[in-house]
Order: sequence, then structure tokens, then C-alpha cells
Amino acid sequence: MGLISKLIGIALATVGFVLLFFGMNDTSSLSYVYSFLGLLVMAMGFALLTAGKPKEEKLPPPTITEIKCNDCDFKEIRDFKKGDYILKTVEEACPKCQTEMTIEGVYMIREETQKYNV
Ligand SMILES: [Zn+2]
Repeated sequence: MGLISKLIGIALATVGFVLLFFGMNDTSSLSYVYSFLGLLVMAMGFALLTAGKPKEEKLPPPTITEIKCNDCDFKEIRDFKKGDYILKTVEEACPKCQTEMTIEGVYMIREETQKYNV
């Protein structure tokens, strides 16, 4: 995957360069089009080359719901579901003591661990 996108990137950059070269040497009205296309294709090629790294699709849930058992101290954290709100009694019973559980909190997760590739 990474290698293929790199090869395509190189090919596009080359084609773009050739187009640009032709555009510069062409005196007809098409020269502008060639130059523009060349630049565009070259930009696409370089974009592929630089951003060709496979993205790690590890998306944490943006919102989580914390559920607490009403009786024991069992706590569960799960993805936020539509309709969740604080102090709502959930349908699931506590797996430990079968007591009703209540939503204790709804939290937004900030992606602070994101690394910036400069
Ligand atoms: Zn419990």
C-alpha cells in the first residue's frame, strides 16, 4: 500500500513535471493549460509522496458514559449512546449483584495523545 502510493506519487510528479515543461516551451494558447495541469498533477504526486503513510485508524470514542451500580462499587465505562444522560437508570443490571445501574457521568474524550508530524 505504502509503496504503491509512493510509486503513483513519483509517476504523478514526473508526469506533472513533463506537462509543466511542455507548457513552458509551448507558445500556443494551450501552454497555460499544460502548465496548470502540470502543477496540479505534480502537487498531487508530492502530496501522495509526503502523505502516503498509511493512517492508523485508532479512533477512540469521542464520548464515553460512566455507569455505576447503585449497590456495590461496580463501575463500567462504555461508549456514549444516544439518549444517555447523567443519573439515568440504564437497562443493563449490574453483573455483580444484579442491581440497577445509574449513569454517573458522560465525558468527552479529547485526543491529546495525537502526534504531529511536521
Ligand atoms: Zn452491583
